Amino acid sequence: MTDLIEVRGLEKSFGDHHVLRGVDFTAAAGTVTVVLGPSGSGKTTVLRSLNVLETPDAGLVRIDDAVLDFGAPPADRASYRRAVTALRARSGMIFQAHNLFPHKTVLGNLVEGPVQVQRRDPDEAAAAARELLAQVGLAGREDAYPAQLSGGQQQRVGIARALALRPEVLLLDEPTSALDPELVGEVLAVIRDLAAERWTLVIVTHEVRFAREVADQVLFIDDGVVAERGGPEVLTDPREERTRRFLARVL
Ligand code: ADP
Repeated sequence: MTDLIEVRGLEKSFGDHHVLRGVDFTAAAGTVTVVLGPSGSGKTTVLRSLNVLETPDAGLVRIDDAVLDFGAPPADRASYRRAVTALRARSGMIFQAHNLFPHKTVLGNLVEGPVQVQRRDPDEAAAAARELLAQVGLAGREDAYPAQLSGGQQQRVGIARALALRPEVLLLDEPTSALDPELVGEVLAVIRDLAAERWTLVIVTHEVRFAREVADQVLFIDDGVVAERGGPEVLTDPREERTRRFLARVL
């Protein structure tokens, strides 16, 4: 199977803090990759690099046919911008907090990107948005404003909004960590459905029990490198001592 995502030798420093020290992994289409690791180990930076929200100092990111070698980027500005835009178009990002537009309705939030950025037909975009809202269990809430929704509902709108742009990969950065405990389950249920539909997902999460259910691949990141990579067995029977210690702490 050809890998949909390829990450090679990713390096990133913030000032003199060397945060990513050569991150490598691949992910096949239709699989769920769970990224685990101690706080500050570089998980979010890896995820943001896939979407070029961070610019790595070196290394390569490829999603499908969009590729950017940060160590040897296209020399001219226009080619570089084109490569960034192509890579960004292939993934959608779900943040800890939903960051919806507060002054737009739920439907308005979902059609904004497809119509303004992708120049899609507004009626088609609205019809697609309604389907997505039904998929995340929010049919009938099209006209609500974000503030009228619970945190869990807002996060589900956030997922629908990312899907509205028809990405090939969904990147989820601790999608439930900002939620009250009683709202976590409804968001995990939506992510579980996406996994069942064979969406390609990369999820940073501390929900290890959930990770066991959905993970096809597990990356344990420690101190800026992939310290262990494998199937779901990494979560139950890790090879590496530092993975073992981490799991003992979070379970
Ligand atoms: P994780 O997601 O594993 O908790 P992060 O990728 O968020 O880790 O961060 C890794 C390290 O990089 C942390 O020490 C963090 O403080 C630092 N860092 C992340 N983003 C920035 C930034 N924009 N500027 C400076 N330091 C940053």
